[in-house]
Amino acid sequence: MIDMHSHFFPAIGRDEADRVAPDQAPWLAVEPSGKTGQIMLEDRPFRPVYQALWDPGYRVEELDRQGIEIQLVCATPVMFGYSWSLRHAAEWAERMNDKALSFCAGHPTRLRALAQVPLQDLSSACKEATRAMKAGCVGIQIGNHHGDHDLDNEQLVEFLIHCAEQDIPVLVHPWDMMGGPRRMQKWMLPWLVAMPAETQLGMLSLILSGALERIPESLKICFAHGGGNFAYGLGRVDNAWEHRDIVRKDCPRKPSSYARRFHVDSVVFNPGALRLLVDVMGADHVMLGSDYPFPLGEQDIGSLVREVGFLSPTQRQGILRDNAIAFFKL
Ligand SMILES: [Zn+2]
Repeated sequence: MIDMHSHFFPAIGRDEADRVAPDQAPWLAVEPSGKTGQIMLEDRPFRPVYQALWDPGYRVEELDRQGIEIQLVCATPVMFGYSWSLRHAAEWAERMNDKALSFCAGHPTRLRALAQVPLQDLSSACKEATRAMKAGCVGIQIGNHHGDHDLDNEQLVEFLIHCAEQDIPVLVHPWDMMGGPRRMQKWMLPWLVAMPAETQLGMLSLILSGALERIPESLKICFAHGGGNFAYGLGRVDNAWEHRDIVRKDCPRKPSSYARRFHVDSVVFNPGALRLLVDVMGADHVMLGSDYPFPLGEQDIGSLVREVGFLSPTQRQGILRDNAIAFFKL
């Protein structure tokens, strides 16, 4: 099995974080046991985490137990830095990508890295994507937006065209969730409600803006968490496109006809949801992802894909392994 969606966070102390991006960069506080810790923002705990997030040796032992041959690791989204000054964000992205590569370096056949880029600036983002790929990353991860700019933003479309032209695979991860702290204070609602909507927003902004008419079809772009609400909501979007000219205005073709321009991961936790996803996206456009090592990820990685009854052996093998090999050229 190949798991193409997992996260790392480097063992970066507050001093180092502050030197690169003063009072903005997240850092890692590890408990004396070395087994657990907290991602920190200034003095505030942001998220409790455990050793697999920063310790590649420990991670590979867990992957052995899970039967995962290769795992792709990418930044935890709090590391993106899209709202920082460009100078700080660009230096940070380069530093984090080098740390991602050294995280993988001791286990070159097991761990591969996706890079992050300073998405707030087109030329810096293109430059770092190209540099990181030359340095050994197998693709890049971006957030689904920066600030009020969604993926149909002119600079972001140009960035995706750059990735298509250089054959750089892209994973889009939701982050910085809509709704704000007043409406979604409790029960992890930003992760449960807003995150799937952010992903759907990213996908629809590419479709309904007509951006996919300009971006080369060769672009390899994958959306996390099974594309969030995208597959389930697509019938509603098609209906709106049929009956309202303002939905058709920038989008010349029926929205669902673009679905297979996208790949998605398989982290949907429910057989019916996976079946719908395979129907809408195509089994060859779904790849095993876990969101490891977080509690909202699939704990027994690949169990949903292994256990459902509706996949042919070829489709199952594709989702568990072969689709990721083709997408990331592993
Ligand atoms: Zn994730």
